[in-house]
Amino acid sequence: MKGAQLYAAGDLRLEELPEPRLGDDEVLLRPLYSGVCGSELHFYQRGLDPGLPPPPRLLGHEFAGIVHATGRAVTSVRPGDRVTGVPWAPCGRCGYCRRGLVHHCTAKRPITGSFAERMVVAESAVYLVPPEIPLRRAALAEPVSCAVWALDQAGLRSGETVVIVGAGPLGLILLLLAQWSGAAQTIVAEFSPVRRDLAAQLGATHVVDPRTQDLPARVRDATDGLGADVALEVVGHPAALRSALDCVRHSGTVVVVGVADATATLPLAPFEVYRRELTIRGSYTRCHTYDRTLNWLRRAEFDRLISHELPLEEIVAGFELAGSAQCGKVLILPNGSPEG
Ligand SMILES: [Zn+2]
Ligand SMILES: [Zn+2]
Repeated sequence: MKGAQLYAAGDLRLEELPEPRLGDDEVLLRPLYSGVCGSELHFYQRGLDPGLPPPPRLLGHEFAGIVHATGRAVTSVRPGDRVTGVPWAPCGRCGYCRRGLVHHCTAKRPITGSFAERMVVAESAVYLVPPEIPLRRAALAEPVSCAVWALDQAGLRSGETVVIVGAGPLGLILLLLAQWSGAAQTIVAEFSPVRRDLAAQLGATHVVDPRTQDLPARVRDATDGLGADVALEVVGHPAALRSALDCVRHSGTVVVVGVADATATLPLAPFEVYRRELTIRGSYTRCHTYDRTLNWLRRAEFDRLISHELPLEEIVAGFELAGSAQCGKVLILPNGSPEG
């Protein structure tokens, strides 16, 4: 079968690969749609993070597809079922799993490889897609599940003002969820004009180009001089986090959702945290948010985030496009043009 593997920064190859081996508790599926994730773009642009197994690495973890075969112990899905899934399966036994914090599991089984004609997923990580949700939209389940968790971290309350720094696909998903979860004002900061337009179309009350406009001043104007209740950093850069900190009011909350370079740092005065009573929280992937995610995915507005669909043969072009920021979500079609 054909599949895409990353060898080094900028070296992503579509190759002939052996069929994946199906374990007793696993599901073999044909991914029909597979999204290009910001974290994989990071690998493509900067190379794999230290600590990950050495390359080549199969990429692709934002998938929706059809079950092709099931392992002997699998009972919850059958061939032909429409499914999506979580890109790792927790062990269920470690200290974090026992505390319900499965995303911090110290022995999780990674699930990757949806930029290929077939992939294997642990049964415990598979979710049936309700018939009214198109598989194309269901391929957004993974980033949407991260956004649901990020808003949990933010503790958003109805009527509040939310700043979103960075309007890539995840920032735009957060924009939709923040509006639907009760934000009265949503202020989006983004460099790319294409993405600023998308944010405006998706209902952002204010859209700011932080290169030419003073973002914190715009936020203060919109909030009687106080600042926002919540700011979400969705870029993965210290300057973006600094902007987010500058945008919130006293006792406000900043959530770090973006994936920064592991060596990047930001000087922070303890006095500022004390005096402004800042809450700074990280949001790492997701924890038990897939059921709520599939509920959200009933909403057709998500379809407007998907700007490009490319065949597997054009995966390198898809990564280049996603890296250019001149797009919304880029989907790869690993098995050709699927269902309508
Ligand atoms: Zn992802
Ligand atoms: Zn565990």
